Amino acid sequence: MESSRPIRVRFAPSPTGPFSIGNVRTALFNWLFAKSKGGDFLVRIEDTDKERSKKEYEKQILEGLEWLGLMWDEKPIRQSERLVVYEKNLKKILEEGRAYWCFCSIDELEAQRQSQLSQGLAPKYSGKCRSITLEEAEGKMKKGESAVIRFKMPEKKVTVNDLVRGKIEFDAGLMGDIVIAKSLKEPLYNFAAAVDDAEMRVTHVIRGEDHLANTPKQILIQEALGLPHPHFAHMPLILGPDRKKLSKRYLDKSFLDYKNQGYLPEAMLNFLVLLGWHPVEDRETISREEMIKEFTLERVQKSGAIFNEKKLDWLNAYYIKQLKPGEILEKIRPFIPAGWLKKKRLLMKIIEAEKERVKAFSDFKELTGFFFELPDYDEKMLIWKETPREKILDNLKKVRDVIKVNGDVMALAEREGRGEVLWPLRVALSGRSASPGPLEILDVLGKTESLKRINQAVKKLEA
Ligand code: GLU
Repeated sequence: MESSRPIRVRFAPSPTGPFSIGNVRTALFNWLFAKSKGGDFLVRIEDTDKERSKKEYEKQILEGLEWLGLMWDEKPIRQSERLVVYEKNLKKILEEGRAYWCFCSIDELEAQRQSQLSQGLAPKYSGKCRSITLEEAEGKMKKGESAVIRFKMPEKKVTVNDLVRGKIEFDAGLMGDIVIAKSLKEPLYNFAAAVDDAEMRVTHVIRGEDHLANTPKQILIQEALGLPHPHFAHMPLILGPDRKKLSKRYLDKSFLDYKNQGYLPEAMLNFLVLLGWHPVEDRETISREEMIKEFTLERVQKSGAIFNEKKLDWLNAYYIKQLKPGEILEKIRPFIPAGWLKKKRLLMKIIEAEKERVKAFSDFKELTGFFFELPDYDEKMLIWKETPREKILDNLKKVRDVIKVNGDVMALAEREGRGEVLWPLRVALSGRSASPGPLEILDVLGKTESLKRINQAVKKLEA
């Protein structure tokens, strides 16, 4: 259709709640599509709902996009600043008789609905006010009667060639005359979106499947206004690991919480892109550059995308492992006590030792605190399986002697039994039931501190 038009896509969030994972996925797919085609990625804040829209949420959205590096190519626009544009278009559509003022009260509408239901009909607006002319309507409103604007829904079929879901046919006759504005200055979503998508010269609307039913409405509004309409692609729903609707816990979670928990943007992007799309060889890890190179709408799946936070942890650990210790140091700064930064040599050694175990930077403090201060632990933790207490005590003393003379701890462990030596040593050094291996800890802590900790363990067992 418009093969010569430059590709332009938009991400159009409503700032009425925390920036959710589903919205971020939509943003990413739009951005990838634009970048893969050399097109533009636009952001449109849909804030016409005055009561529910909050500046705070708008900030979250832009901050989240920036954090992921999904930068927009033109200054984001706000619908609340474009009310004159919608008003102009509402007047036009009213004057041309393709929309009309409706004076039906809520009670009246409810009565119509009930009567349709009782006749076994699917409820839709009866069309009662269709015959009221614009002049009559203006007269009524001058007298103080309140009204909304309804779209005269044509009785026809609308075919959408969805770029993910294929051909879908809708029967507009079943939809009834929908309300498109509460007044000339209060357009509703379908109208404002239809006007803007055309005015912004959007070529492809890429959004969640939950908007599928809006698509024929927007197409018909654009037709009525003589505006071009874009291509459409609807992304699959995001489901929980149980394949049911994603739980509220995740739906209501702000995407920025992931940032604050210390997830890496690379891991997040990788996680998000797999929510409904996968690269050719079905690999699990994919860089931003590769995504741009490989992304196509053809490879977006129709069936629900499974959201599994464990996978995010795995990906994050994977990307942390790729970082150099110096880079990790920069990233963990906000997550550790300021005092730790003063012991930079020790900190760097800890990073080397713990790099493999960190899932998110917010874990780091908890995982590595024992290096700075030995936590209090129960002496029972020192006992390896069924080994008698005396034997453990004896082994700790032996290992202490070996360390004193810089001897070979492993040789001792081979002689006396690995578990019987290495387990109590590890617990003595870390005070924890899970940690890096004892020799690694020994290396990080150094001889003096290690001997001090072993002495403490010996005392615990002797008591
Ligand atoms: N404001 C709508 C939403 O956040 C946008 C839908 C669309 O992309 O058209 O769901």
